[in-house]
Amino acid sequence: METKDTAGPQETFDTILVLDFGSQYTHLITRRLRELNVYSEMLPCTQKLADLSWKPKGIILSGGPYSVYAEDAPHVDPAVFDLGVPLLGICYGMQEIAWHHGKNVLAGEKREYGHATLKVHRRTEESHVDALLQGLEDDIEVWMSHGDKLSHLPPSFVTIASTPNAPFAGIAHEFRPYYCFQFHPEVTHTPRGKKILENFAVVICKAEQNWTMEKFVDKEILRIRAMVGDRGQVIGAVSGGVDSTVAAKLMKEAIGDRFHAVLVDNGLMRLDECKTVHGTLTKHLGINLTVVDAGKRFLDLLKGVSDPEKKRKIIGNTFIEVFQETAKDMAAAAAGSPNEGEIEWLLQGTLYPDVIESVSFKGPSQTIKTHHNVGGLLVGMHLKLIEPLRELFKDEVRALGANLGIPEDLVWRHPFPGPGIAIRILGEVTPEQVAIARHADHIFIEEIKAAGLYRQISQAFAALLPVKAVGVMGDQRVHEQIIALRAVETTDFMTADWFPFDGQFLKRVSRRIVNEVNGVCRVVYDGEHSLD
Ligand code: GLN
Repeated sequence: METKDTAGPQETFDTILVLDFGSQYTHLITRRLRELNVYSEMLPCTQKLADLSWKPKGIILSGGPYSVYAEDAPHVDPAVFDLGVPLLGICYGMQEIAWHHGKNVLAGEKREYGHATLKVHRRTEESHVDALLQGLEDDIEVWMSHGDKLSHLPPSFVTIASTPNAPFAGIAHEFRPYYCFQFHPEVTHTPRGKKILENFAVVICKAEQNWTMEKFVDKEILRIRAMVGDRGQVIGAVSGGVDSTVAAKLMKEAIGDRFHAVLVDNGLMRLDECKTVHGTLTKHLGINLTVVDAGKRFLDLLKGVSDPEKKRKIIGNTFIEVFQETAKDMAAAAAGSPNEGEIEWLLQGTLYPDVIESVSFKGPSQTIKTHHNVGGLLVGMHLKLIEPLRELFKDEVRALGANLGIPEDLVWRHPFPGPGIAIRILGEVTPEQVAIARHADHIFIEEIKAAGLYRQISQAFAALLPVKAVGVMGDQRVHEQIIALRAVETTDFMTADWFPFDGQFLKRVSRRIVNEVNGVCRVVYDGEHSLD
C-alpha cells in the first residue's frame, strides 16, 4: 500500500503552518484560521523545514505540556528563524522562541490557569509590533494555561501586552516579524482571539483569504485527474453517509464512470436505506454504483452471537471480504475491456481530524505513527490510496457537499455506525430482531424530522433491549421487549449531552412505537452522555 504525496492545497492556497508541540488546543489554531478562509495545516514540531515541498506564509508554534528548559524538551527546527516568514509563538511556542533568543525561561512560582485581563501596550510611533493587536480594545479577556514564565525580555524584544500576573503576556521582536503570546488566542475563552489570529495571518503574513469550498472543488478535481490519469480506474466503498457520498461525488466529477462505487448491503442498514441511497447516488448524483446484496451472509455469520465486540469483528471482517471480492471481480472485468485501464486506486474518505491524530506530537520519545486505513487490509491488490477529503474538517466536507449539489438531508445526515443496527440490538441479531429495531428507529427519526429537531440533534437512534416487560395492550396482558431511545447533542463529536425532548414528543413517539411495532410493549428514553 502506497500513500500519495502529490501537491496538496498548499500549492494553490497561501498556507499558515502550525507546528504542534502537543497542546490539546493545537488543532483549534488550524480551525480558526480555516474559519477565516485562510488555509492552514498542522505538522509535528519535529518537522524539518528542508523536507517540506512548499513554503508557508507564516508559522505558528503551538502550546505544549513540556518545559523548554527540560533536558528532553522538544525544540523546533532552527531553520524557522531563517525562513524569512513571520512567526507566532503561543504559550510553549512563546517560551520556545524566547529560549532560542537567550534561554531566559524558568518555572513560575505558581501555575496560572483561567481568565485574565490583558492590557495592550501600544507605541506612540507607528511600528510593526503593534500590528498584531491592531483594531482591538485596550483591555481584552484572554485564557491562560501555563506554569513557566519568561525571566526577562529577550534581546531586541518589546512588550506588546501584559496581565497583572504576566508582565510579558505579549512580546514582539523590534526588527523581525516574531510575535509571542503567553495566552491562548485559539480557544473560545479568548473572545477576541480570532481577530488576533486574523491580524497575524492576514495583516502580518499577508495570506490571502481565499480558502473556500468553491475554490477547493475546482482545484481538487484537476488534482484528481492529474493523479489518476486518462485511463486510471478508482474503486471505493460508499455507505450513504456524508463523507463517502461527498468523496464519491467528487470522484464522479473528476473521472466520471471510471470511479466505481460499491455499496455493501449488510442487511443491517436502516429501513429502506439501501434503496434510498441507491436512488440518490445513481439518479440524483450520477455515480456509477454497484450494490452488493450480502445481507444473508452477514446475518448467517451473526447467528447465535450476542457479544457486542464479536459482532463488530464479524461485521468488520465480512465487510472487508465482500468488498475485496467485489473489487477483484471489477478489476478482472476492467482488465478485459479495451477502453479501460486497470483499477489501481482505492478511494478513502479520510478527514483532517484523522490526519491530525496521526501527525500530532505525542512526546519526545515517541515516533509519529502513520494513519492506518482499511486499504491496508485489501491483501494482494496493491491499490494506491486516494483521499480527497484528507485536508478537510467535517464542516468543510458539508460545505463541499452542498457545493457539489448533494441534497441537504444527506449533507446533514446523522452519522451511522458501520456495524449498523446490529450493535443497537442487545443480544442475538436475528432477522426478526433487526426488523423490530429498524421499524422503531424509523418511527423515532420520522418524528424527530416532523418536529423540526433533526438538525439540532447530532445523533439519534433506537436500541432494542431483549428484556421482556409486562404491558397491557387492548384487553390483554402482553410480555414483550423494550425499545430504548437515544438522542444526543454535540459540537465536536468528542463530548455529548442527551437531548431534552419535551414530554409530549416522547409520549407521541412511545405511543407510535408500541402501537405500530410488533414485539414491543414499552419505550424508555436513555440519558447516557456518549456517542456511538
Ligand atoms: N509547559 C509550559 C508552561 O507550563 C507551556 C504550557 C502551554 O503551552 N500551555 O508554561
